[in-house]
Amino acid sequence: MLHDDILNLQRKKRIGLMGGTFDPIHQGHLVTAEAARSEFSLEKVIFVPSGQPPHKKGLAISSKEARYLMTVLATSGNPYFEVSRLELERPGKSYAIDTVRYFHSQMMEGSELFFITGADAILEIVTWKNVEGLFDWCTFIAATRPGYDLGALREKLLKKLSPHYLQKIIPLEVPAMAISSTDIRERVRNNRTVKYLLPTEVESFIYKNDLYKA
Ligand code: NAP
Repeated sequence: MLHDDILNLQRKKRIGLMGGTFDPIHQGHLVTAEAARSEFSLEKVIFVPSGQPPHKKGLAISSKEARYLMTVLATSGNPYFEVSRLELERPGKSYAIDTVRYFHSQMMEGSELFFITGADAILEIVTWKNVEGLFDWCTFIAATRPGYDLGALREKLLKKLSPHYLQKIIPLEVPAMAISSTDIRERVRNNRTVKYLLPTEVESFIYKNDLYKA
């Protein structure tokens, strides 16, 4: 092996992209990102809040800036976490393929991209734009809560995808995934406590800006 090749290999990076609506971001997301970073030896995890989620047309979502700020507040204490404004600045619907293509183009040849998101989101992957291209460029980490039926997930995916692609979806069990953004929004609406489900800074931001009340 040439000296340059050895150097290149040493410099190869594994980067995690943490995609989600993050309305709001919570401890489940943070524990997932940290677990993925540690278990897959990722150099860093870049949180990518969705600009305009393609599958949420007509649903009420908090503003891009509110979701971005909550994500920054939640991640600021972890030196391995970053937040990208890519999908927030890009006009039109936020397709994962455009995001992965961008990060892929910024990376050194041979580096690896991991797209981390919820297993339920990944179940819908065949409806995503240019899904085969996505598999060429990244490996998916599918976060599940304990007890999630991985056999059923595999079966459902196999109905839609060839086994070749299935190899590029790796499940990651995360106990804190029992927390959900939907549940937090409902709790706030019904004046129930959300303490410890999400970082204090994010909780304060939600109350200060009257989110999820309507
Ligand atoms: P979602 O439908 O709101 O979420 C589905 C499930 O996954 C929920 O239980 C959700 O929990 C969980 N989840 C979402 N993001 C997660 C994360 N990063 N880590 C752990 N669990 C997560 O999905 P979404 O948040 O809008 O979208 C997820 C990602 O898929 C985004 O990056 C989005 O751009 C991408 N996506 C792409 C396309 C496309 O390219 N056509 C279509 C759909 C989704 P919480 O509600 O608690 O977050």
